Amino acid sequence: METKTKAIAIDGPAGAGKSSLAKALAKKLDFIYVDTGALYRAIGLAFSKRGFDTSLNCDIADELKNINVDIRFIDGVQHVFLGETDVSEEIRTPVASMMASAVSAKGEVRAKLLDMQRDFAKKYNCIMDGRDIGTVVLPDADLKIFLTASDEERAMRRYKELKEKGDTSTFEEVLSDMRQRDYNDSHRAIAPLKPAEDAVIADTTGKNVEESLVMLLDIIKENIK
Ligand code: C5P
Repeated sequence: METKTKAIAIDGPAGAGKSSLAKALAKKLDFIYVDTGALYRAIGLAFSKRGFDTSLNCDIADELKNINVDIRFIDGVQHVFLGETDVSEEIRTPVASMMASAVSAKGEVRAKLLDMQRDFAKKYNCIMDGRDIGTVVLPDADLKIFLTASDEERAMRRYKELKEKGDTSTFEEVLSDMRQRDYNDSHRAIAPLKPAEDAVIADTTGKNVEESLVMLLDIIKENIK
């Protein structure tokens, strides 16, 4: 008999702390962590390498036929591949972020990634983060969390992360890109960013990683038996 796997969906805007918190939770619970944003980023990067910008003036379906995106777990850590190239680092630039937001509004792109994401949840106990996990990808998840924080705090976290990597964007640029991306993500026609009706809203404003982790572990304890 097939045993049912457990799934926790974490959605929310950019910089709310989804990936660092989901990673830490997955370790504690011995679940796998699936970062779905990495898939959209990899596809965005592929379009950028093909010479397209965020206006995506091309036949999306046709281009997608030649884009092979894949997730592999190496020592328990997710890596994203375009063909045989590991692009896990290359997808973390501001350009890849904006390209991800542009390609993610395309139905063909979302359809291409849907089964891949669902297959992970069928096979493994997982924590999956993204924008539409609770609403579209895993509507039957055991728990749905919508993670948020103030715009300024989210932008400051992203700004520090980028600065550490040597990126020269200013705080204002990061804030403005992030607001643009959140606007795109929550106003697109297909699978817009929004809390699922049965999601628990968790606000990390003013909380550091440890404090946010405690908050999420309490939510998990209350909701998953
Ligand atoms: O989570 P991250 O910031 O890496 O995601 C990059 C972009 O990918 C988001 O701004 C969003 O446009 C898109 N995305 C999405 N659906 C998901 C995950 C990410 O549309 N489930």
